[in-house]
Amino acid sequence: MQRLMLGNFELSVFSDGTYPLDGGALFGVVPKLMWSRKVKADDRNYVTAGLNSLLVRTGKQTVLIETGMGNKLSERMVKFYGQPARLLDNLAAAGVAPEDVDIVINSHLHFDHCGWNTVRAKNGKIVPTFPRAKYYAPAGEWQYARHPSERDAISFIPENYDPLVDSGQMTLLQGGEEIVPGISVKTFPGHTAHMQAVIICGGPGKDATACYISDLIPTAAHIDLTWGMSFDLYPLQTIESKKEYYAQAIPEKWLTVFTHDPTTPWAYVGKDEAGKMVASGF
Ligand SMILES: [Zn+2]
Repeated sequence: MQRLMLGNFELSVFSDGTYPLDGGALFGVVPKLMWSRKVKADDRNYVTAGLNSLLVRTGKQTVLIETGMGNKLSERMVKFYGQPARLLDNLAAAGVAPEDVDIVINSHLHFDHCGWNTVRAKNGKIVPTFPRAKYYAPAGEWQYARHPSERDAISFIPENYDPLVDSGQMTLLQGGEEIVPGISVKTFPGHTAHMQAVIICGGPGKDATACYISDLIPTAAHIDLTWGMSFDLYPLQTIESKKEYYAQAIPEKWLTVFTHDPTTPWAYVGKDEAGKMVASGF
């Protein structure tokens, strides 16, 4: 677990574990000759992907951004991805109980981002993992998830969000809302049409803002504009969204948090003298 202070907020990364992902799918049209210099693949061409959640303690609230893959995958999904299911144990090891979490935010509703929103109780009923928490997710994501395309239908597990929407425990967001003072969401289309990054501002001035950028930039190896995942539904929009993000994040020195990087959960993104994108800081 890694931790730092961002202005008055304490930020900690908690992992739900790692899982195997096809390297070609993770790097889209980028040739293996290029991506294999940054990330090692095994003999089946799998690379290791992380599942990083971010815990923010504002002093008033405890906010959990993203809830990993969870423990409700089907047998078929477990065959592909395993099911590390480490998040609750890792939170517990740092003294964070499910009851301590006040707010849960999902950037989008693919299975590897909202898996621990809920658990199946002994009686088979789906219940919130974080019983006291108010949950938030993009409204457009939830609407899409009800009728997803054939291409990404496998990525939606309704038990992760429908019971929370039905009970009123999950609030659906349009994008742009401030959820608690200093923590807001902003829509960056590309990976999906409605994915929202979470912007965390722990105080005034530079060096006090971080952004959980989710699958717009899944790992530190994806900072180049054209290094997108083949999972992206709208790859040209991914490039435009990255440009928009960098136009603010680079001059304002935002800390970027990467969901799927197993070794570099956060870094400062910038350009070197040759204009090449570089991730630095940790
Ligand atoms: Zn993802």
